[in-house]
Amino acid sequence: MIKPELREIFSGSLFEGEIKFMEPMSSHTSLRIGGNADIYALPADIPSLIGILINLKNNGIPFFALGGGTNILVRDNGIEGAVISLKSFKNITKIKEDGDSVIIYAGSGVLLQRFVNYCKENGYKGIEELAGIPGTIGGAIYGNAGSFGLEIKDVLYSIDIMNEAGLIKRFTPDSLNFGYRTSGISSGNIIIGAEIKLKKGDKKEIAEKIGDFLKIKKEKQPIWEPSAGCVFKNPPGLYAGRLIEEAGCKGLRVGDVEVSNLHANFFINKGRAKADDFLKLMEIVLYRVKRKTGIILEPEIKIIGRDEIAEG
Ligand SMILES: Cc1cc2nc3c(=O)[nH]c(=O)nc-3n(C[C@H](O)[C@H](O)[C@H](O)COP(=O)(O)OP(=O)(O)OC[C@H]3O[C@@H](n4cnc5c(N)ncnc54)[C@H](O)[C@@H]3O)c2cc1C
Repeated sequence: MIKPELREIFSGSLFEGEIKFMEPMSSHTSLRIGGNADIYALPADIPSLIGILINLKNNGIPFFALGGGTNILVRDNGIEGAVISLKSFKNITKIKEDGDSVIIYAGSGVLLQRFVNYCKENGYKGIEELAGIPGTIGGAIYGNAGSFGLEIKDVLYSIDIMNEAGLIKRFTPDSLNFGYRTSGISSGNIIIGAEIKLKKGDKKEIAEKIGDFLKIKKEKQPIWEPSAGCVFKNPPGLYAGRLIEEAGCKGLRVGDVEVSNLHANFFINKGRAKADDFLKLMEIVLYRVKRKTGIILEPEIKIIGRDEIAEG
């Protein structure tokens, strides 16, 4: 139950945007799973984001930064505190051109696909491999999203990050600890935007490359069904999907969650799936892969939310 004081702390606060209470996270995740967030905040701009953060800090309320919700599993008991959506940070600006190099700034809420299309339309090359990855620039940076051998860190020039006190600092990618599907960005920090370095290229060649990558994705991944992408990380030199398939897990189902028959590392919401079912299916798959290969798979998706609802 939402505490009345949570509503009160925002009354009279100066910020542009939206605040909602008891917002179903199933409406904000590609899996369409998840209980309510106590608070859902959609700041319109940086001063509003700072205002919201100060309010939360003064009241000891935890928060979670949300991008496109395409890499998270939100538990059925919802999220304690606030979810801050960066959706409104969606500006794309050309910063500089130097010979055949170009630097473009993208706000954290820009959809990665919109950015890939922008590059295609303007003839900027270097990011084609990321075509087809859903979600936002902010989410892609946080999880160092990648595909076909390219990771977003490879094209970053600088990253603007706001800390819990509302201060923004510019980082070079080398100073953040990027690794396979990880960054050194801790969860209390919010990515505001990034400069991305690309090269000028031939529009037709760029469009063809993007088309080829998208074709492969469509053939190999169940991209039209509700999922959160790959559930587990690939162990070094191996493919989690293949290990799951070889452990006989394709088509396994708990409640309305099913291991995809197309790509075994994708779990699909077949209707009214619950996070509990998803977690149970993860456990079964983990157990079967461990029994067959001795390998303990590590989750790629981020599992968020309350284990249990507190009494009182
Ligand atoms: C069909 C499908 C295919 C996919 N294919 C791929 C693929 O090929 N490669 C790949 O790497 N991933 C893939 N994914 C997973 C997912 O799309 C990516 O990880 C994506 O980059 C997540 O971005 P998001 O904006 O949705 O992040 P969210 O799911 O909203 O958040 C993910 C994490 O990032 C954090 N975060 C988000 N925005 C910010 C911010 N502004 N500041 C600080 N932290 C933030 C969140 O707190 C959370 O911890 C796929 C997913 C689907 C559904």
